[in-house]
Amino acid sequence: MAGRLKGKVAVVTAAGQGIGRAIAESFVAEGATVWATDLDVSKLDGIKRAERRKLDVMKTKAVDAFAEKVGGIDVLVNVAGFVHHGSVLECSDEDWDFSFDLNVKSMHRMIRAFLPGMVARGGGAIVNMSSGASSLKGTPKRHVYGATKAAVIGLTKAVAADFIKDKIRCNAICPGTVRSPSWDARVQKLGKEMGGYEKALEWFLSRQPSGRIAEAEEVAAMAVYLASDESAFVTGAEFKIDGGWTL
Ligand code: NAD
Repeated sequence: MAGRLKGKVAVVTAAGQGIGRAIAESFVAEGATVWATDLDVSKLDGIKRAERRKLDVMKTKAVDAFAEKVGGIDVLVNVAGFVHHGSVLECSDEDWDFSFDLNVKSMHRMIRAFLPGMVARGGGAIVNMSSGASSLKGTPKRHVYGATKAAVIGLTKAVAADFIKDKIRCNAICPGTVRSPSWDARVQKLGKEMGGYEKALEWFLSRQPSGRIAEAEEVAAMAVYLASDESAFVTGAEFKIDGGWTL
């Protein structure tokens, strides 16, 4: 089914690879006008029929200037995030601050910049990328990551509550493990500690009752639903897509 986002203007952060990339491409396929953004603009090269722009979501001035340039939009998808691997004892203040800045404050910046234009257009949909590793599940070696992704759920509900009368819907997606370049890098890195890539892969798969990890396109399908009018009655919700990981 194509055309579910026809006539909608959407901004996607971290669209260069992984989940963000799959979302930007699915949105284009569904007929949206897409602003695909990433810190590394070269990663956006292959995305066809989209406006491709560099955007560092950690820079308030750049975010504000970009929102000013783009003007009113219908859909904002906040994907940018970073996985810090470690327990509380392996997390420095710098690790903590960086993770909160990139994973949470970036969404605060983006929403604050784009929301007035969305309200002026008569409403819209915001989709924030959280994780199963959040308030949904205590996850080994995801100390600050889990804290940031729980904060994303809180931020999502707060925005949904404040702007429901303005017809702004705000929802969060909470994926389990999803194939992406940064996930593959995590497996490679862990493999060095565990004595081989295969062992690290086994560790990731052992967390999955379904026996497999997700493809980014499966997460993108949920983002399309949450961006489209099919989800008009859905707001302030967190959606698990984790192959049974949090069961
Ligand atoms: P990824 O980590 O492979 O790619 C992240 C992208 O973000 C890159 O293209 C990078 O250039 C960009 N980026 C980094 N810093 C940025 C910045 N300051 N401004 C703008 N862009 C920046 O992609 P992924 O693994 O699909 O993860 C995407 C999101 O999904 C993250 O928020 C992640 O926490 C979340 N998530 C991922 C998984 C997973 O298993 N992959 C699971 C649950 C949630």
